[in-house]
Amino acid sequence: MITSYLQLLQRRYQGNLDNKADKYIHFAVDVASRMQNLINDLLEFSRVTKSDREPKTTNCEFVLNQALSNLKLMIKDNKVTISHDPLPDVMADPTQLIQLFQNLIFNGIKFQSEEAPKIHVSAEKKEIEWIFSVQDNGIGIDLQYSEKIVEIFKRLHNREKYSGTGIGLAICKRIVERHGGRIWVESKLGKGSTFYFTLPINPMNFKN
Ligand code: ADP
Repeated sequence: MITSYLQLLQRRYQGNLDNKADKYIHFAVDVASRMQNLINDLLEFSRVTKSDREPKTTNCEFVLNQALSNLKLMIKDNKVTISHDPLPDVMADPTQLIQLFQNLIFNGIKFQSEEAPKIHVSAEKKEIEWIFSVQDNGIGIDLQYSEKIVEIFKRLHNREKYSGTGIGLAICKRIVERHGGRIWVESKLGKGSTFYFTLPINPMNFKN
């Protein structure tokens, strides 16, 4: 409601007030829409623990396709090349897994460098777990921050350059940890990033 009324004010009175008033309304609209994004992202973050679905056999190629379909427009607009190795079946909550793939691929596209974005998804079986990776050719991450960025609200870039709330990776971490896995990133500044996460081959029940 706040956003709608502010937008109404902006549409109806733009140019009828002085410059300062126009500027204040513009700021208010901007902040209100950021607040809306933040609330939506926080709701999503809180929902990750609220699910009481039990893990079920989930085909990761299906999961990837769903995530890509949700990002269809972004992929088309940014001329993104996506490739993947054969992906396994895992025991998981499919909805949360789609969200996990989606957030990582979304970031891989968002933090792109000069080159057209290329994303590669793969999975490797290691002893008791699957190690998944989502690799991009984007701007990369300074190693000293690589542990911090999966914490909620931690961002390396100002919002003028890359919009966002700093919750996407915190959601990923929560999803992975609920499934009994770990998440980390390896990267070189300017040379792209690879986000890794593990999923146990034989998971216990979900952690809350
Ligand atoms: P947001 O994208 O809303 O800022 P995230 O939690 O998804 O929040 O990411 C946190 C921060 O981690 C980002 O602001 C960015 O600095 C960094 N980051 C995440 N993914 C990538 C990536 N693929 N390449 C470079 N930096 C990234």
